[in-house]
Amino acid sequence: MAHQNVKRNPDDYSSFFTPRSAARQPSAIRALQPLLSIPGMISLGGGMPNQETFPFKDLKFTLKEQAGGGEITVSSDNLQKALQYSSTNGMPEFVAWLKDLQSSVHSPPYESFDVCVGNGSQDVLTKAFEMLLGEGDNLLIEAPAYVGSLAFLKPLGAKFVELPVDAEGLNPDTLESTLRDWPNPATRPKVLYTVPVGGNPTGTSTSAERKRRIYDIASRYDIIILEDDPYYYLQFAAERAPTYFSLDRDQRVLRFDSFSKIFSAGMRLGWVTGPAPLVDRIALHSQTTLLHPSGVSQMLAFSLLDSWGKTGFLEHTLRVAAFYKDKRDTFLAAAEKRLKGVAEWVVPDAGMFVWLKLLGIADSSDLIRTKATEKKVLLVPGFEFFPNPRTTPYVRASFSQASPENMDEALKRLAELVVEAREE
Ligand code: PMP
Repeated sequence: MAHQNVKRNPDDYSSFFTPRSAARQPSAIRALQPLLSIPGMISLGGGMPNQETFPFKDLKFTLKEQAGGGEITVSSDNLQKALQYSSTNGMPEFVAWLKDLQSSVHSPPYESFDVCVGNGSQDVLTKAFEMLLGEGDNLLIEAPAYVGSLAFLKPLGAKFVELPVDAEGLNPDTLESTLRDWPNPATRPKVLYTVPVGGNPTGTSTSAERKRRIYDIASRYDIIILEDDPYYYLQFAAERAPTYFSLDRDQRVLRFDSFSKIFSAGMRLGWVTGPAPLVDRIALHSQTTLLHPSGVSQMLAFSLLDSWGKTGFLEHTLRVAAFYKDKRDTFLAAAEKRLKGVAEWVVPDAGMFVWLKLLGIADSSDLIRTKATEKKVLLVPGFEFFPNPRTTPYVRASFSQASPENMDEALKRLAELVVEAREE
């Protein structure tokens, strides 16, 4: 069957929703939240605790020298706001800041996109999975893939249609042939999940040229793209590749960003950006679980962003990327020294991972889980990252935390283990 570009109605995504997601109704209490800001409104609704009883008065924080130094004060009013219940999507000023950032960084081809902040990107990402995938639904997914997504998707009962990744990321040819040769249109996958930058675990990224082709294919087969991009700001090249969101002419991309790698993982702040009907449905889910992301975390992040401005924020991300690039180079120097003839790898161009293929080892699982741990080196065995079970010689190493000496020592121990295992 020939497939033309699907002209989708950007107001109607109902054919993508699982019955559970479609059944979600707004919470009566949460629906009152936006009405509170109407001038003159007297609220006897809701169940807001009275902030006069809260013990916190003000909040000041000091930046590290590397982040420009200086003290930032959160005003008493803003702190009281942060300590109170607030909108499910996120604090309005924070959401507005993020929308503006998305417009200027990605220049998406449509303006009506929406944003919903979550308790980390994992929160909104898993809600998107739940919205779009039910028991037995086929999902297009990279192999290997982010283990944190697999852990959510497996019990959901989604079926994994694996797409191999190489040094240039996801391969559009495989995507195209998978969809073209799909035997039954009724079960053809409707969703593609991808980590396009600094893939976890591969460390590689999908090239701009491939992204364009993949978007075109998604357009022809009416696929929703879940662009999980927490390493976007950790790219090592001078220029960042265009995102799927920046190509989204027919409103089929949900993009997931995270503050975990650039501000703090413990703040638990991430956000989803995309077509309003899809983002709204994720927010509807949050209304019943999270109520809203932490006001204190949002206020901390917003106060810093507001004080830095967009330029200051983007400068910070460049410093973070330079830090990880340096770490990567140190790791690769140790790998060149210790793993010659023992392992192969593709140089990561973003993120914090190297995907090592152990040579002469068919199955890395026992070696890494048991023997490496005994030898006091922690790595993640490759089989964990494959959607469908298999044995693999791969192992994931992270260069984020270890000192140069410890990287060298860890890879020395790994090399010894591989050599010993080959002799057994
Ligand atoms: N997606 C990927 C690919 C990740 O690597 C991670 C973090 N390990 C997440 C999502 C979740 O990030 P967050 O801390 O924002 O929830």
